Amino acid sequence: MAGKLFQLKIISPDRVFYEGDVTMVEFTSSEGEMGVYADHVPLTTILMPGIMTIHEQDGIKKAALHAGFVEILQDKVNILAEVAEWPEEIDINRANEARIRAERRLGGTSGESNIDILRAELALKRSLTRIKLLS
Ligand code: ATP
Repeated sequence: MAGKLFQLKIISPDRVFYEGDVTMVEFTSSEGEMGVYADHVPLTTILMPGIMTIHEQDGIKKAALHAGFVEILQDKVNILAEVAEWPEEIDINRANEARIRAERRLGGTSGESNIDILRAELALKRSLTRIKLLS
């Protein structure tokens, strides 16, 4: 039997990234990986960089989500994403360069002082998410 549908809306600063009826959505929250079906208990959570998988009735779509908020309501899920990308929008070379930059900063080989560790860790997570989505 097909799963029960609920409304999913994903808004990024420059567009309605996705809007449709889905059976499940998976994403990475501050509490870890989450999979949300219809009739999930209402809650709000924070998005972390990760691959989001949208389960539609006839297939799945994957995208990279890097930061934002998730609002789970009784019959719909709203995601306010600061940065969201479909696979075809990702520039793999740019992602690789960002990964190398972040790894150098975290490994102490960038030659810079005053490294913001958290910022570098998040940049690394974003780049790895982009690379993983394309692999
Ligand atoms: P970079 O250091 O290369 O800018 P970043 O992770 O710091 O990477 P973000 O702050 O996450 O970049 O994103 C800034 C904007 O650039 C967003 O619109 C995002 O979609 C876009 N962007 C970042 N990296 C890529 C990429 N590899 N391919 C396509 N768009 C990207």
